[in-house]
Amino acid sequence: MERKCIICGNVFQAKCGKSALCSDECRAERQRQLSAAYIAKRREINKTKGYEEKYCVICGKEYQPTSGKQKTCSERCKKIEKARYQAEWYRERKIEGVHYDKTEPEKPKKAKKKDSLTADAVAAHKLGVSYGQYIAYYKRGGGK
Ligand SMILES: [Zn+2]
Ligand SMILES: [Zn+2]
Repeated sequence: MERKCIICGNVFQAKCGKSALCSDECRAERQRQLSAAYIAKRREINKTKGYEEKYCVICGKEYQPTSGKQKTCSERCKKIEKARYQAEWYRERKIEGVHYDKTEPEKPKKAKKKDSLTADAVAAHKLGVSYGQYIAYYKRGGGK
């Protein structure tokens, strides 16, 4: 089957109908073109999304972000960046002397409730019963 190479334009004998490239060189060239076209297409998509080419904050390499939050070129750099960010995070808080505890945020409204709980606990203690017993027997009017 005679085909015309889509890269160099040479007419050649194709072994199968799919082949439109005369040689390995032309196949390699086609691959380059495809990847270039792919990159150009990605660039175009990112442009419409508003993602501009950025420089990796870790290695400084130019890269094409796939999301607006992306700051690094690769997974490897992402991990480094995350570790750095965490180190920075802890360092900042230590310097500022802020004792930040995620599990116990300050909530004044809940503190009030806690006070009544404490009062109950004190009352239970005075009666010589456990807090659970106190609630069950005295607050809910249950018990034997
Ligand atoms: Zn060719
Ligand atoms: Zn990088």
